[in-house]
Amino acid sequence: MKPRNLYLQSRHGLSLFLICSVSLFAGLTFAQESDVTVPFDIFGKTMGPIAYKVSIADHPESVSPIDLQERVSEVLENVNQLMSTYQPDSDVSRFNRSSSTEFQAVDPKTAAVVARAIEISKLTDGAFDITVGPAVNLWDFGPKNSNFEIPTVSQTDAIKDTIGYQNLEVQLDPPAIRKSISDAEIDLSAIAKGYAVDQVAAALDNLGCRNFLVEVGGEVFTRGQRFSGGKWRIGVERPTDAGVSLSNIAEISNQAMATSGDYRNFHEVDGQRYSHTIDPQTCRPVKHTLASACIIFKDCMTADALATAIMVMGRDRGLDLCKELGADCLLVERESDFGDQLTEYTSKSFPLLSDPTPSDAPTIVQQILPVFIGAAVIFGLVILSMSVGAIFAKKPITGSCGGLANQTNEDGETTCGICSKPTTDCVEKDA
Ligand code: ADP
Ligand code: MG
Repeated sequence: MKPRNLYLQSRHGLSLFLICSVSLFAGLTFAQESDVTVPFDIFGKTMGPIAYKVSIADHPESVSPIDLQERVSEVLENVNQLMSTYQPDSDVSRFNRSSSTEFQAVDPKTAAVVARAIEISKLTDGAFDITVGPAVNLWDFGPKNSNFEIPTVSQTDAIKDTIGYQNLEVQLDPPAIRKSISDAEIDLSAIAKGYAVDQVAAALDNLGCRNFLVEVGGEVFTRGQRFSGGKWRIGVERPTDAGVSLSNIAEISNQAMATSGDYRNFHEVDGQRYSHTIDPQTCRPVKHTLASACIIFKDCMTADALATAIMVMGRDRGLDLCKELGADCLLVERESDFGDQLTEYTSKSFPLLSDPTPSDAPTIVQQILPVFIGAAVIFGLVILSMSVGAIFAKKPITGSCGGLANQTNEDGETTCGICSKPTTDCVEKDA
């Protein structure tokens, strides 16, 4: 069965357009799987409203585009079913609802993500902490969405004891997780997208794909090369007053890239911005001038978590951590809380493309050309079919005289006079 909400789109717009025009004219239907040629994109929505895109630059002949599409959707659905706080029956929701302090069985994938999350908490001195769940809800960034009001100090104090990755324990065999405080809750939002990206990449690897890009809600993994050759090129988001621009392009291959920022998901009250990144120490949204953190690392799960952690740690500690772990980063800092002056800090080997014009982006001519050619082909076909009809029916071609009605030829005849179907107007004028 074809999954709903999924689309395949060939990146060869022109050829597909021509094929469709001709097939429509001929009364044939070419909308078959085999028409989707590389490179093509698979895209849709996952984990609620999050958009994803998988660009396939090539794939084995034995695996059809529909096979790939179904596999991608299956993998994403599986991660969502296990780790979403919005799915009441997910491993995470069941664990959060339970007040038991015994080990609770979970899927091996959930246990693996929780285990990695705890490792990253240790690496970041607790800046990354999946037990921030109660604070995420208190600050109205979780599933229990309500009308936002700034929590009082006593409200934040009341949840402080439940927060701390030290309250969490994981075992891989058999896979299970345990909380030492019955009110503790976990939130995998800052790591599950990256994990989902890695899982899709692993599935494509297993299917024999060698050149592809996977993107889920801005978190990316790249394999091999793009269709036109060379490393994959990815725009790095830069928050500006007018919104978000893609002013920098990074070139990567066989690496992941993840970005966290304070500009997409936040509350604004009396000119004060409250970001969705929570400082586990204070149980409040982070408050410093780092606007975004873009991390390049070998896997997307780690890159995703590090991006969030560095939004908590700030610029200097963030740059140090990246150096220590061998991660590349591009950090954007505001001059002041609401300043529009932005400064960028990159690790030494951050792979910025020196010419920021992505050569893969179609130029205006490239965008318009297919439309022109398509229109010309359709026009040509219509004229051809009219001519064929006229010849076979042995009928003169009729039509409007247009603005030529009163023009005379060398013999003094008007165009209407020689027209196969002169109008009354024409005849009267000529008489
Ligand atoms: P995005 O979803 O835009 O990629 P992040 O990856 O930074 O953003 O994830 C932010 C989400 O992670 C928040 O909405 C919250 O659910 C959770 N979160 C917030 N602060 C932390 C933190 N310090 N450690 C772990 N998870 C966090
Ligand atoms: Mg993220």
